[in-house]
Amino acid sequence: MTEAWIVVHDTDDGNALARSARGLGDRVVAVSLGAGSLADADLSLTIDLAPGALVEAYARPVAALLAERGATLVVFGTDVRSRLLAGQVAAHLGVSPVDVSGVVSTTPLVVMRSAFGGLAVATDEVTAPVAVLVVGPGALAPVDAAGEGSVEVVEAEPVPGPTLVETLPKPGGQVDLAAAARVVGVGRGFAAEADLDLARAVAARLGAELACSRPIAEGVGWMPTERYLGVSGATVQPVLYLAIGISGQVQHLVGVNHSKVIVAINKDKNAPIFQHADFGVVGDLYQVLPALVDAL
Ligand SMILES: Cc1cc2nc3c(=O)[nH]c(=O)nc-3n(C[C@H](O)[C@H](O)[C@H](O)COP(=O)(O)OP(=O)(O)OC[C@H]3O[C@@H](n4cnc5c(N)ncnc54)[C@H](O)[C@@H]3O)c2cc1C
Repeated sequence: MTEAWIVVHDTDDGNALARSARGLGDRVVAVSLGAGSLADADLSLTIDLAPGALVEAYARPVAALLAERGATLVVFGTDVRSRLLAGQVAAHLGVSPVDVSGVVSTTPLVVMRSAFGGLAVATDEVTAPVAVLVVGPGALAPVDAAGEGSVEVVEAEPVPGPTLVETLPKPGGQVDLAAAARVVGVGRGFAAEADLDLARAVAARLGAELACSRPIAEGVGWMPTERYLGVSGATVQPVLYLAIGISGQVQHLVGVNHSKVIVAINKDKNAPIFQHADFGVVGDLYQVLPALVDAL
């Protein structure tokens, strides 16, 4: 019987990761750091977090637990804490974590990963004795099957280090773009920060989250970095992605190409985004958006 292991922490959606991992083995076993037991896993090994302890302080005991139980395939999520944990756990196990965009087969384990900044997809066989995979939302088809729901409490001591003294809300608020059904993306086609209000008006009418291309977040700083989409940003899979003033470079498309319908507004009829869009409007966003708001 093959086991797919997952490692989840207190702020993860552990059940979603369990459903994603179910296609990788006959059984899903979860190491749950402060996240309690998971209904969608067959077995949850729960570890209570010590007050103030950071999840990454448990990397060493988690690695020891995985080694002791003979785990050969371990899946982590893609949030910052999970990535930190994956890197440290993999290092303790003497292997490298692999950031995967899909799994082709499990025996042998063949995975897909983004290469050359998103220009290509590499297909690799993972031959390490323990495969440590970092898997984003949408990379694996979720399987809805009830887990056995068994629970085992595991005692583990955090490695001494920095502790959490206070939690403050992030300026700009939290955003869960991965869960958004509609996303409006803005790019360098906008000439000024204040003009983003045009896109905000469209997003409000559509009930959509606002996102952007990387230059809008990291270049001009008009939007927070967690709102940019792409190979080095967030990945979305909405029903509708509306790209406004975005050229459609491959690094951006990697983050949006799981959208069900892509609509693009761009004044350049040769913009690459139109090759990937289901519907396109060739036009100046400063004329198209007010008309769109009126129509909506
Ligand atoms: C290693 C690496 C990683 C990267 N990662 C990412 C990433 O994760 N996400 C990402 O987004 N980018 C990423 N990039 C950057 C990426 O290559 C592009 O530079 C970026 O996506 C372009 O952003 P843009 O489409 O907003 O701007 P541009 O490419 O400048 O496109 C602007 C578009 O707006 C149109 N336009 C201009 N004025 C108007 C108007 N008035 N009305 C309508 N349309 C108009 C233009 O025709 C043009 O097509 C990365 C680059 C590298 C090298």
